[in-house]
Amino acid sequence: MGYGTPGLSSSKTRWTLHECGDCGNKYKHKGSLQRHMKYECRKQPSFKCPYCVYRAYQKHNLLLHERHLHKDLPEKVDFVSE
Ligand SMILES: [Zn+2]
Ligand SMILES: [Zn+2]
Repeated sequence: MGYGTPGLSSSKTRWTLHECGDCGNKYKHKGSLQRHMKYECRKQPSFKCPYCVYRAYQKHNLLLHERHLHKDLPEKVDFVSE
């Protein structure tokens, strides 16, 4: 037993998380928080799936959703947004 106490590993480097003051979401990157506050926080996702109740913040995500969950559906006719 020649060892002293291993000592608390000096991992003082903590992630400084950027927290949204409105909803409490936490982000590693300040840019992510800013994007969240600008486009997501307190906003309804603006892209709505025409086949179910799914909503997405980004059109890209909606397209992915449709492709994965509604791939058996026929091609939809021109989608007229309101
Ligand atoms: Zn937020
Ligand atoms: Zn859907």
